[in-house]
Amino acid sequence: MRICFVGLGTMGLPMASRLLDAGFSLAAWDVLDSAGAALPGRRDTLEEAAEGADVVVTMLPEGTHVATVHDRLRDSGQDRRRVYLDSSTIDVATTRRLAARAAEAGHGFVDAPVSGGAEGAAAGGLSFMVGGSAAEVARVRPLLEALGSRIMQFGEAGAGQAAKACHNMICGITALGVSEAFALADALGLDRQHFFELCAGAAAQSWILQNRCPVPGPAPDAPASNDYRPGFAARLMAKDLRLAQEAARASGQETPFGAEAARRFTAFAEAGGGDLDFSAIYREIRDGSDGG
Ligand code: NAD
Repeated sequence: MRICFVGLGTMGLPMASRLLDAGFSLAAWDVLDSAGAALPGRRDTLEEAAEGADVVVTMLPEGTHVATVHDRLRDSGQDRRRVYLDSSTIDVATTRRLAARAAEAGHGFVDAPVSGGAEGAAAGGLSFMVGGSAAEVARVRPLLEALGSRIMQFGEAGAGQAAKACHNMICGITALGVSEAFALADALGLDRQHFFELCAGAAAQSWILQNRCPVPGPAPDAPASNDYRPGFAARLMAKDLRLAQEAARASGQETPFGAEAARRFTAFAEAGGGDLDFSAIYREIRDGSDGG
């Protein structure tokens, strides 16, 4: 299987490196010349990287970037049948549109956004939320298995992005709840370490609490104990929560807590917190700013 990998940023570079280590034949490209410059298989143009590819993987910031790559490859005249595998986190509507256009041109499409961060990408421990036909998913499965420890299919194209939006909405809402509780615990004079241990072993425990505890100290490896270096940047959390809101509007489902989380994280990112870990929103809650 020949792979073209597009987008060599925080996530894409360790994913492409891991595929090379696993023995896949891989050519890669990024619009930024410096991104992944030392990666074996790095090409100067998208068209060169895609020549002869069976699978084109995209790991890009937004839907517009993924669409640009599809447009360029459609116009390139390369007609070898391929599967487009998009692991970026983008909106459901763009995903469905790109899948339909790929099908019209005789190509396959699978959306497989991820959870697990750069550490997970490097270690092959990503979780994939997958949408696409069973046949197309089967074609890309060896690649997903090289990168991930959990591969969960939810339905046709777009279903993976839908699952990701719902999953990250839980994370955003939970982060606000955990931050608010720690702010109150501080205000009431509780010992942070003691309160953390209570929650970690009781009904309030969650991945967010244990891995992204928002106050410095109780979890030494968490971003809060390391100047809030991400982790998962607040601007990405804000983006994912906005995507969840787009999906909620399109489906007619009211999600008031998700809407509030989107508002708070967007305001936090726009006020200068975007490159901090999302758990830094604790400081704003503690200081009484409503983020608006
Ligand atoms: P990033 O900004 O670090 O990297 C994106 C890369 O894409 C950059 O190198 C950029 O130059 C390149 N790029 C932009 N437009 C391009 C184009 N048109 N053609 C080719 N290359 C282009 O982003 P990231 O953190 O790697 O995230 C990528 C995707 O994965 C996003 O959709 C993000 O939401 C999602 N994601 C990120 C994380 C995380 O922890 N960082 C976790 C899960 C999912």
